[in-house]
Amino acid sequence: MMNEPLRIAGLLEHAEKWHADTEIVSRLPEGLIHRYTYVDLGRRSRQLANALARLGIANGDRVGTLAWNTHRHLELYYAVSGSGAVCHTINPRLFPEQIVYIIGHAQDRAVFFDLTFLPLVEKLAAHCPGVEAWVLMSDRAHMPESTALPNLHCYEDLVAAENADYQWPVFDENTASSLCYTSGTTAEPKGVLYSHRSTLLHSFAAALPDCFNCSSQDVILPVVPMFHVNAWGIPYLAPMLGCKLVLPGPGLDAASLYELFEQEGVTFSAGVPTIWLGLLTFMREKQLQFSTLRQTVVGGAACPPALFRAFDKELNVQIRHAWGMTETSPLGTVCTLKPQQLSLSSEEQFALKTKQGRVIFGVDMKIVDGEGRALPHDGVAFGDLLVRGPWVVAEYFGADAPGDLTADGWFGTGDVATIDPAGFMQITDRSKDVIKSGGEWISSIELENLAVGHPAVAEAAVIGLPHPKWSERPLLVIVRRAGHEVSADELLAFYEGKIAKWWTPEAVEFVDELPHTATGKLLKTKIRQTFAGYAWG
Ligand code: ADP
Repeated sequence: MMNEPLRIAGLLEHAEKWHADTEIVSRLPEGLIHRYTYVDLGRRSRQLANALARLGIANGDRVGTLAWNTHRHLELYYAVSGSGAVCHTINPRLFPEQIVYIIGHAQDRAVFFDLTFLPLVEKLAAHCPGVEAWVLMSDRAHMPESTALPNLHCYEDLVAAENADYQWPVFDENTASSLCYTSGTTAEPKGVLYSHRSTLLHSFAAALPDCFNCSSQDVILPVVPMFHVNAWGIPYLAPMLGCKLVLPGPGLDAASLYELFEQEGVTFSAGVPTIWLGLLTFMREKQLQFSTLRQTVVGGAACPPALFRAFDKELNVQIRHAWGMTETSPLGTVCTLKPQQLSLSSEEQFALKTKQGRVIFGVDMKIVDGEGRALPHDGVAFGDLLVRGPWVVAEYFGADAPGDLTADGWFGTGDVATIDPAGFMQITDRSKDVIKSGGEWISSIELENLAVGHPAVAEAAVIGLPHPKWSERPLLVIVRRAGHEVSADELLAFYEGKIAKWWTPEAVEFVDELPHTATGKLLKTKIRQTFAGYAWG
């Protein structure tokens, strides 16, 4: 067989040649809707590759981005990785000190940023001496009249100055392509360096029927940002399949998203639960329906069963639950039923679908106890979840310590899970969030999932707090839905018959809002700080 290396630029060459007139639609930070096709993406990415060379970007150099999901960010994905440099997507929602740390650690030589982030970048620049070029991803008309930013360039000017005469280089498929940092809620962020090979294998797997199940007929809108683990692979998957891509830019509020879903005929989407909860509330209030959306992948945090039910029954959209992490590119498991489960009752099927699901080919997993001994797949025993595969991290980028793998080559995810006899994995907690009460473990995720099933609850968090008798007990922290009332006793009674009695939270506290991480997950460290020294009634 021909030994042709797997390269990210190959995806673009394919889409340009065979899906030339398929559209890419973006809502830009400047407020406009922008439309073009894969042919335009190919041409401008080659122009941008020439511009990168002119800026002095060489093989293996890191190029940072602080950007929303737009066609320009997509051009950077292809021009940077395609030319042999490393596309380092930075999460702009991190604390400025973390962004400075990450830019320094990655040794980014250039940083491309959206108009939205100009004030942020103006603050950061002085602390990032290694960055030789700051590029504002807009046109001349939107350039600031005066700025303290050194070496500021205009993206559209850089692109316009070049011709599209550029041949994507061919190199070893193990060459580094892109870099993402974990959000580092407890320690410094850690970098995960992907390769062309890992990215392409991950894209092939993502397209499979038991995974995203997408084809050229789909119109995909990734709500998940391109700075959150490469939008879960969608920027690579779409050109591979040749499907229309709709990029929502900074418009992540429910009204803007709904408008784009309807206007562009979106059939498939993906994002964290918070986004879908917001959209559901908006659509209920306005009594709206989707006319084309058929399926969305929900992951990044546990998808509450109440959300599955509402999307299925009220909006006629199927949710696919997925699990993964920055260290797994990110896809690890996706939940779809096997044929023998189709004869189960709809309630039994529903219970299965709310699990995090089965591994896709390429990833293997196991659960182990504290001594590293494998635990049974009985759906009851839970332990540390370990994974391995060609798109799973071997060691962190620029880490001082050698590897983070077990002696026999598995990566410890930091998640605690069960696996049932049919192979369905269910996350019970992150190991640091697990609640140990009287020597037994309580799943905070399960308690949260049940709480958000109560009609008066907008959001719920469960944390373990020290307890004189049981060592730790669960505290339920609730944000009420606007205009709804509910008491602590009513909420505790709501758990009756749904869980073992001793799992019932010890107390309930009401707050106006809960803190979230930069990727929209509950920030449990902060919640634990808030309730440190809590006196049980
Ligand atoms: P960070 O660690 O920066 O939050 P990731 O986005 O890589 O970044 O987060 C990965 C973690 O998110 C997983 O280890 C797991 O704890 C959690 N997670 C992801 N998907 C799910 C899911 N479907 N259900 C429960 N937890 C999930």
